[in-house]
Amino acid sequence: MLKAAFNALKNLFSTPATIDYPFEKSPKNKEARGLILFEEPKCIWCLKCEDVCPPGAIRFTQDRESFDYTYHYNPYLCIYCSECVRACPDSAVALSQCNELSPPTDDKNMNDNWFKIEKEAEESKIAVKELKKIKKEESS
Ligand code: SF4
Ligand code: SF4
Repeated sequence: MLKAAFNALKNLFSTPATIDYPFEKSPKNKEARGLILFEEPKCIWCLKCEDVCPPGAIRFTQDRESFDYTYHYNPYLCIYCSECVRACPDSAVALSQCNELSPPTDDKNMNDNWFKIEKEAEESKIAVKELKKIKKEESS
Protein backbone atom coordinates (compact mmCIF):
# COMPACT_ATOMS: atom_id res chain seq x y z
CA MET A 1 0.00 0.00 0.00
CA LEU A 2 2.79 2.34 1.01
CA LYS A 3 4.79 1.24 -2.01
CA ALA A 4 1.82 1.92 -4.33
CA ALA A 5 1.39 5.39 -2.87
CA PHE A 6 5.10 6.06 -3.27
CA ASN A 7 5.01 4.93 -6.93
CA ALA A 8 1.94 7.05 -7.61
CA LEU A 9 3.69 10.11 -6.17
CA LYS A 10 6.88 9.34 -8.11
CA ASN A 11 4.95 8.97 -11.39
CA LEU A 12 3.12 12.22 -10.74
CA PHE A 13 6.37 14.17 -10.95
CA SER A 14 8.21 12.11 -13.59
CA THR A 15 8.17 12.80 -17.36
CA PRO A 16 5.78 10.64 -19.47
CA ALA A 17 7.20 7.39 -20.88
CA THR A 18 5.37 7.99 -24.18
CA ILE A 19 6.03 10.68 -26.80
CA ASP A 20 3.60 12.94 -28.62
CA TYR A 21 3.98 11.17 -31.99
CA PRO A 22 3.79 12.33 -34.83
CA PHE A 23 4.59 15.84 -33.50
CA GLU A 24 7.54 14.47 -31.61
CA LYS A 25 9.74 11.90 -33.36
CA SER A 26 11.16 8.77 -31.73
CA PRO A 27 14.86 8.93 -30.93
CA LYS A 28 16.92 7.95 -33.97
CA ASN A 29 18.32 4.45 -34.00
CA LYS A 30 21.24 3.92 -36.39
CA GLU A 31 20.18 0.31 -36.99
CA ALA A 32 16.58 1.17 -37.86
CA ARG A 33 15.46 0.67 -41.45
CA GLY A 34 12.42 2.64 -42.46
CA LEU A 35 10.73 4.25 -45.43
CA ILE A 36 12.54 4.57 -48.75
CA LEU A 37 13.71 7.95 -49.97
CA PHE A 38 14.15 8.45 -53.72
CA GLU A 39 16.31 11.14 -55.30
CA GLU A 40 15.18 11.41 -58.90
CA PRO A 41 18.12 13.51 -60.21
CA LYS A 42 20.51 10.71 -59.24
CA CYS A 43 18.48 7.88 -60.81
CA ILE A 44 19.87 6.20 -63.94
CA TRP A 45 16.57 4.32 -64.50
CA CYS A 46 18.10 0.85 -64.43
CA LEU A 47 14.90 -0.48 -62.74
CA LYS A 48 16.91 -2.87 -60.55
CA CYS A 49 15.04 -1.69 -57.45
CA GLU A 50 11.73 -2.61 -59.06
CA ASP A 51 13.05 -6.07 -59.96
CA VAL A 52 14.32 -6.96 -56.49
CA CYS A 53 11.51 -5.55 -54.33
CA PRO A 54 9.82 -8.64 -52.75
CA PRO A 55 6.31 -7.19 -52.24
CA GLY A 56 6.38 -4.99 -55.37
CA ALA A 57 6.37 -1.72 -53.46
CA ILE A 58 8.35 0.05 -56.21
CA ARG A 59 6.92 0.44 -59.69
CA PHE A 60 7.98 2.49 -62.70
CA THR A 61 5.47 3.62 -65.26
CA GLN A 62 6.70 4.78 -68.66
CA ASP A 63 5.43 7.62 -70.79
CA ARG A 64 4.33 6.35 -74.20
CA GLU A 65 5.60 9.46 -76.01
CA SER A 66 8.73 10.61 -74.21
CA PHE A 67 9.58 7.11 -72.89
CA ASP A 68 10.42 8.78 -69.55
CA TYR A 69 9.98 6.74 -66.40
CA THR A 70 8.03 7.79 -63.31
CA TYR A 71 8.90 6.29 -59.94
CA HIS A 72 6.10 5.08 -57.65
CA TYR A 73 6.56 3.83 -54.11
CA ASN A 74 3.92 2.31 -51.87
CA PRO A 75 5.02 2.79 -48.23
CA TYR A 76 2.10 0.66 -47.06
CA LEU A 77 3.48 -2.37 -48.94
CA CYS A 78 7.13 -1.81 -48.07
CA ILE A 79 8.59 -4.31 -45.61
CA TYR A 80 11.79 -2.25 -45.04
CA CYS A 81 14.01 -5.09 -46.26
CA SER A 82 16.53 -2.74 -47.91
CA GLU A 83 16.89 -4.90 -51.05
CA CYS A 84 16.24 -1.92 -53.32
CA VAL A 85 18.89 0.20 -51.58
CA ARG A 86 21.42 -2.61 -51.99
CA ALA A 87 20.47 -3.07 -55.67
CA CYS A 88 20.80 0.62 -56.54
CA PRO A 89 24.15 0.91 -58.38
CA ASP A 90 27.07 2.77 -56.84
CA SER A 91 26.99 5.04 -59.85
CA ALA A 92 23.52 6.28 -58.84
CA VAL A 93 22.83 5.85 -55.09
CA ALA A 94 19.39 7.27 -55.71
CA LEU A 95 17.75 5.29 -52.91
CA SER A 96 18.28 5.52 -49.20
CA GLN A 97 16.37 4.44 -46.14
CA CYS A 98 15.30 6.74 -43.34
CA ASN A 99 14.31 5.52 -39.90
CA GLU A 100 10.74 6.78 -40.25
CA LEU A 101 8.53 3.70 -39.95
CA SER A 102 5.10 5.22 -40.40
CA PRO A 103 3.79 5.94 -43.89
CA PRO A 104 2.25 9.39 -44.36
CA THR A 105 -1.35 9.53 -43.24
CA ASP A 106 -2.37 12.06 -45.93
CA ASP A 107 -2.16 9.51 -48.75
CA LYS A 108 -5.14 7.33 -47.90
CA ASN A 109 -5.84 6.48 -51.55
CA MET A 110 -2.43 4.91 -52.14
CA ASN A 111 -3.57 1.31 -51.70
CA ASP A 112 -6.78 1.88 -53.68
CA ASN A 113 -4.80 3.32 -56.58
CA TRP A 114 -1.87 0.94 -56.39
CA PHE A 115 -3.41 -1.76 -58.58
CA LYS A 116 -3.88 0.86 -61.32
CA ILE A 117 -0.23 1.89 -61.00
CA GLU A 118 0.88 -1.75 -61.20
CA LYS A 119 -1.26 -2.32 -64.29
CA GLU A 120 0.02 0.85 -65.95
CA ALA A 121 3.63 -0.03 -65.06
CA GLU A 122 3.30 -3.34 -66.88
CA GLU A 123 1.25 -2.11 -69.83
CA SER A 124 3.26 1.04 -70.45
CA LYS A 125 6.56 -0.84 -70.58
CA ILE A 126 5.14 -3.37 -73.06
CA ALA A 127 3.71 -0.54 -75.17
CA VAL A 128 7.00 1.36 -75.20
CA LYS A 129 8.89 -1.79 -76.16
CA GLU A 130 6.52 -2.26 -79.11
CA LEU A 131 6.77 1.41 -80.12
CA LYS A 132 10.58 1.24 -80.06
CA LYS A 133 10.47 -1.92 -82.19
CA ILE A 134 8.19 -0.26 -84.74
CA LYS A 135 10.42 2.85 -84.85
CA LYS A 136 13.49 0.68 -85.39
CA GLU A 137 11.79 -1.24 -88.21
CA GLU A 138 10.68 2.01 -89.85
CA SER A 139 14.17 3.49 -89.73
CA SER A 140 15.88 0.41 -91.18
S1 SF4 B 1 12.82 -1.77 -48.62
FE1 SF4 B 1 12.29 -3.78 -49.50
S2 SF4 B 1 10.07 -3.76 -49.60
FE2 SF4 B 1 10.68 -1.63 -49.28
S3 SF4 B 1 10.77 -0.79 -51.35
FE3 SF4 B 1 12.85 -1.52 -50.85
S4 SF4 B 1 12.92 -3.62 -51.65
FE4 SF4 B 1 10.78 -3.01 -51.56
S1 SF4 C 1 18.03 0.99 -58.68
FE1 SF4 C 1 18.53 3.13 -58.23
S2 SF4 C 1 19.24 3.95 -60.20
FE2 SF4 C 1 18.17 2.03 -60.62
S3 SF4 C 1 16.07 2.68 -61.07
FE3 SF4 C 1 16.14 2.18 -58.89
S4 SF4 C 1 16.56 4.16 -57.91
FE4 SF4 C 1 17.08 4.40 -60.05
